Amino acid sequence: MAGEKEIKEIYDNGMKILEELTSKAYEIQEQMLEEILIRNAGTEYLSRFFVHGQNHKQNFKANVPIVTYEDIKPYIDRIANGETSSILFADPITQFIQSTGTSEGKPKLIPMTAESFEKRMVKPLLVDLVMKKCISGLDQGKSFYLFFVKPEMETPSGLMASLYTTSYFKTQIFKNGLAKFCTSPIDTILCLDNKQSMYCQLLTGLLLRDEVVRIGSSFASVLARSIKFLEDYWKELCSNIRTGFLSDWIADPACRNAMSSILTRPEPELADLIQQICEDKSWEGIIKELWPEVKCISSIVTGSMSQYIPLLEFYGGGIPLVSPNCGSSEACFGINLEPLSKPFDVSYTILPNMAYFEFLPVNNDGGGKSREFKLRGASATESSESTNETTTVNKPVDLANVKIGRYYEVVVTTLAGLYRYRVGDVLKVTGFYNKSPQFQFVERQNVVLSIDLDKTTEVDLSKAITKAKLVLEPLGIMLTTYSSYADTSLTPGRYVLFWELKMKGSNDLPKLDAKIMEECCGIVEESFDFTYKSLRKGGVISALELRVVKHGTFDELMDFYVSKGASISQYKPPSCLKSEEAVKILNLGMVGTFFSPKTMF
Ligand code: AMP
Repeated sequence: MAGEKEIKEIYDNGMKILEELTSKAYEIQEQMLEEILIRNAGTEYLSRFFVHGQNHKQNFKANVPIVTYEDIKPYIDRIANGETSSILFADPITQFIQSTGTSEGKPKLIPMTAESFEKRMVKPLLVDLVMKKCISGLDQGKSFYLFFVKPEMETPSGLMASLYTTSYFKTQIFKNGLAKFCTSPIDTILCLDNKQSMYCQLLTGLLLRDEVVRIGSSFASVLARSIKFLEDYWKELCSNIRTGFLSDWIADPACRNAMSSILTRPEPELADLIQQICEDKSWEGIIKELWPEVKCISSIVTGSMSQYIPLLEFYGGGIPLVSPNCGSSEACFGINLEPLSKPFDVSYTILPNMAYFEFLPVNNDGGGKSREFKLRGASATESSESTNETTTVNKPVDLANVKIGRYYEVVVTTLAGLYRYRVGDVLKVTGFYNKSPQFQFVERQNVVLSIDLDKTTEVDLSKAITKAKLVLEPLGIMLTTYSSYADTSLTPGRYVLFWELKMKGSNDLPKLDAKIMEECCGIVEESFDFTYKSLRKGGVISALELRVVKHGTFDELMDFYVSKGASISQYKPPSCLKSEEAVKILNLGMVGTFFSPKTMF
């Protein structure tokens, strides 16, 4: 298998390869595009745009449209339904990756070929190498990673559709490679019952506590969730360690079997020690206490995950937070070459061999407003209609032409049949590593709240909340998670925020001072944009409402989404709720409700 050879090469020469990749970023990108086009010019999809007599790259830039998932869904559906002709790609599509992004309420299905799947497996190895190079001691122990899988789905044609991580964890390359340095036995990771999986992984992490040098999960929300699970289950975990017997409710045979070689004897002293640590009223620094050798916490903490930074810093007690990489089901974008940079300063470096990247310039603040435009090849993209604050239509630029300080939406052409595909994520270019651009993840260009003409994006919301919560910090109150929804059941409608609050040193509910909470509402509204404020002033939108929920309420929301098929390992609390059931769950945990001052606008 070509992948195995490449992976051995990475193990042996990873840092050198990284230097070469980034130094030759332009050339690699051009070669990659050429190769993709030569191989696929005859596919049903591309051939329509290729004018005879023009070279492939000219055809590509001039004629191939920039698309979203909805544009190519009919082609993907045909492949999923069993058509085997070269519809999108010359090589056979071997599987689909299920994205957390949805289309018509279902996960988007991203086509994948054997070759592109293998190529992608290089990324976690590079991430691991960089971390080991920058953080001393990481190669002297194990990683306590909380990894989870989600059931696969079969398309009518018999192709499997799964999360990328689920497929990856099943490969021999993972099992014989990185998994060997993880505490969690592979069968506990592959257990489809997330609760049994979590319990066994935590139990193993505690039993092997002296060996653990790194703790992590793919996204910070998963780690936050795991710590909450530990809060709920530490007594039972200690009892298992004390007696040497695994709880009966762990019924999955593979999990039981795996645990039998780890939980081999009673360890009362270890149980006493863990109990003593967990009994402490404040869990500040608990990670350092439980895993004294841990050198870093590795989890994505940028974008919407940044809301977990205070929580992880609190539990970590000074252990560096590392946000290792950035990507999506469609393609890996980049990795963090300076793992020890502060969470809010993290930049990722583009890996130019992962896809052909183009960058669509967007508004200066990266968030911007919805930009309704149709892009068809470069010629039409130049017809920028407006330069006002809300609409910017520009020609996409390639990797060599991005400018530091500018914001771009990522567009990828992949080794598996996506051509000029808008992923939806916005990046801010912060510099270059050799010839490869480095970027900060800004956020999906998603509008999350909308009433009348107002469209508030995830970025707008997150910025507003970040400002407002500053009022709570001096009072020792932590905002652990938030969400929102547009309540249009009454006219005029209003935006409702849900905040889960707790005291810094404990899980106790803070005493809520109405005046201060109203001030928070006011700051959020004040931070929203011109359109929001004018609609609010004109009475089209009514005063913003803030509902405070008690500790643990958002875990119930996660349970709800997991029960509906969300993946625990990629779960991101929605910054906006679309389902009434989800709103009901949060309402059940409500302990106080506050409104913006009436006189505000
Ligand atoms: P999925 O395709 O389901 O794996 O989801 C990928 C999405 O997660 C991306 O499109 C981003 O919106 C988000 N994401 C991935 N990596 C990061 C990161 N490092 N920081 C913030 N968000 C990220």
